[in-house]
Amino acid sequence: MKADEDKEVKVKITKRITDFSRWYLDVIAAADLADYAPVKGCMVIKPYGFSIWENIKKVLDKMFKATGHKNAYFPMFIPESFLKREAEHVEGFSPELAVVTHAGGKKLEENLVVRPTSETIIYSSFAKWIQSWRDLPLLINQWCNVVRWEMRPRLFLRTTEFLWQEGHTAHATHEEAQAEVKSMLEIYRDFVENYLAIPVVVGKKSGSAKFAGALETSTIEGLMQDKKALQCGTSHDLGQNFAKVFGVKFLDKAGSEQYVWQTSWGMSTRLIGALIMVHGDDKGIIMPPRIAPTCLAIIPIWKNDEEKAKTIEAANSLAQTIFDFPFVIDDRDLRPAWRYYEWERKGVPLRVEVGPRDVENNQVVLVRRDTGEKITISQDDFATRITEILEAIQHNLYDRAKQFCKENTHDVENWDDFKKIIDQQGGFIRAEWCGLAECEAEIKEATKATIRCIPFEDQGKRGICAHCGKPAQHRVYFAQSY
Ligand SMILES: [Zn+2]
Repeated sequence: MKADEDKEVKVKITKRITDFSRWYLDVIAAADLADYAPVKGCMVIKPYGFSIWENIKKVLDKMFKATGHKNAYFPMFIPESFLKREAEHVEGFSPELAVVTHAGGKKLEENLVVRPTSETIIYSSFAKWIQSWRDLPLLINQWCNVVRWEMRPRLFLRTTEFLWQEGHTAHATHEEAQAEVKSMLEIYRDFVENYLAIPVVVGKKSGSAKFAGALETSTIEGLMQDKKALQCGTSHDLGQNFAKVFGVKFLDKAGSEQYVWQTSWGMSTRLIGALIMVHGDDKGIIMPPRIAPTCLAIIPIWKNDEEKAKTIEAANSLAQTIFDFPFVIDDRDLRPAWRYYEWERKGVPLRVEVGPRDVENNQVVLVRRDTGEKITISQDDFATRITEILEAIQHNLYDRAKQFCKENTHDVENWDDFKKIIDQQGGFIRAEWCGLAECEAEIKEATKATIRCIPFEDQGKRGICAHCGKPAQHRVYFAQSY
């Protein structure tokens, strides 16, 4: 077997329609994003996968800083007693904790938990940092890894260790904290829709799905191509729960001591899983230009040395006109088709083919990754046209995902339709709900669908619960989910 053929076997991608789960893993392998590690549930993020995370981080970090947040870093080891102080918090996280019992060759006096999230360790510092109303609001973000022991790992979506950011803020009033929860959720929505090109529904979690220790959790939820929902980011109103157990207090303007009001919010490497499952096709992933590590793959095409020199030269001079898009010039001695496939698998939004005839005619051929469309343009228009087309690809990816989401959102009024649609079609189901946790649990038991969110808008006239028939409190989004 020749080397090239060997390569072809390795990058075989299962079709989405045949087996979506298998497709997902095949695409990750084919695009060279990540791999499983020796410890079950852990993930090695390979350079291309990591460069996507670096871009996510770069854009979000800028948005956080522009809204007054500062980065800090807190230790990954948390005294076990810290977690136990907030009852709901420890109950929520206990099953997934990794605990260090020995270190330095002996048994520790107190076990250390490897952070599953950092509220407790950060707020023990906040208690020291905050004295007066002048110290508020305190707006901190941390980029780090966290560990939540995972029984059913899945690359990017559920891994035992993952990378994320966690914002932690303290405010003088509940109103200010609530405004922070909303404004961070809005930043998440803006980022996910306008950079990742993933449309989301926005709202509150039901009581059973809120963050352990929070008063209320807000969420953005996307719909994947297998019609399951994925939670893409959450923002929590922590009230004074943690402030009370960690003694985070301040003297108000009148000189009396008050507990602060807190929020936390997070987004993780699971967003890369969302990018794959929303935009990917049977050839690989498709990267939205605004987040793509490489926007253009410029491919000189030749048959002999003379053509090689000419086309590479043309590729280089085109590259010099590219203003602000990351690009590669792929002039490896591989057949053009091999080079095309590689960038296609990696989802590079635009391929630029430069053959000997193109050089002669002062033109290049652009191939869109999202539609496969071939566009021949004059080299003189290169810089303008790629800017336009990359922008068009960004919008097309969003519009296409939005259309998919619309087509797979079903308004349902009764339990028979609910079951039938979840079973036969999947997607989001919008239905009236009584607000009772028992009813929500019964729906989950019967259909595996959970409440993804209670939308902030559309809380108008209410009918009856689609499941139990009691008077409805909300019209909510249900879906099976990751
Ligand atoms: Zn009900």
